[in-house]
Amino acid sequence: MNGSRSVAGRFAPSPTGFLHPGHASSFALAWLSARSQNGSIFLRLENIDDSRCRPETSTEIKRDLAWLGMDWDGQPLTQTDRLEAHLFALETLKKRGTVYPCTCSRADIVRAASAPQVGERDSGITRRYPGTCAQRSETEDRNLIAQGIPFCWRMRTPKNGWPDFVDGLLGKLPGSLADNEGDFVVWRANKGNQRGGPSYQLAVVVDDVFQGVTEVVRGDDLLDSTPRQLAIIQELGHSAPKYFHVPLVLDAAGRRLAKRAGSLSLAQLRAQGIGPWMILGQLAVQWGLNPTACEQTLERLRAIFCWNQLKTGPWEWR
Ligand SMILES: [Zn+2]
Repeated sequence: MNGSRSVAGRFAPSPTGFLHPGHASSFALAWLSARSQNGSIFLRLENIDDSRCRPETSTEIKRDLAWLGMDWDGQPLTQTDRLEAHLFALETLKKRGTVYPCTCSRADIVRAASAPQVGERDSGITRRYPGTCAQRSETEDRNLIAQGIPFCWRMRTPKNGWPDFVDGLLGKLPGSLADNEGDFVVWRANKGNQRGGPSYQLAVVVDDVFQGVTEVVRGDDLLDSTPRQLAIIQELGHSAPKYFHVPLVLDAAGRRLAKRAGSLSLAQLRAQGIGPWMILGQLAVQWGLNPTACEQTLERLRAIFCWNQLKTGPWEWR
């Protein structure tokens, strides 16, 4: 499908906090994959979740990427500058009848869904949307607006289910990975003073298309998003990128590294006198690209980079 298109990858961080070695791992793999094929790589700041974003973090992210030796092409794209394009995509989905307005609150969904699974109760996992509003047509938004009832837009689960896909690292994967959520939100509702806007799933797809992205390299915690994003891409009539879902990096307690774990941020490691070549050296060992822990540069790794050699499965940052 990507036939004659030249390779283009991307970094798509959210400016909500410091980058940590898990980001370094997935961004370095995105860079290595694109650059080892003489491709481009773009930077996009995914700041649609306004409430959690801090403007100064964008500067920190660029500094961390440059410190590790990663460059990018052109100007960074800021997702909140793309609202018109996101709206246009929503209009297209409406015309195709694949979305409907949903007035359910989170509490409504929890009530309507079946009892939570063991261990799920307080985990914050979104419960499967039970389809309460699915009988609404895409034209009923006008009535809701007239009545002042807030609503989001949900995409219908395709008749034949979510699309299967082939991951460049993990092989063939089923679309049923996306079944956990059911019909999902593509446009968030207005809430109080906060205006609604595109969901992560819609914005990612529209902006990847705009930037000409042919390769999406990201953490495998996003695997279940991929069938949803592929469904949007199909409805909008675009070509799908290749996906590479890379292993998560865990902390010593076996938890996924998160931005709140400030002691493990790249900025903190830098302040401790750890050089980027040491971080890249450890990443190369864990990826399986290099058997012994030695200092590395991205340029050196680029010469030996090969997806086939990459290990799968989570690993611990030490
Ligand atoms: Zn609903």
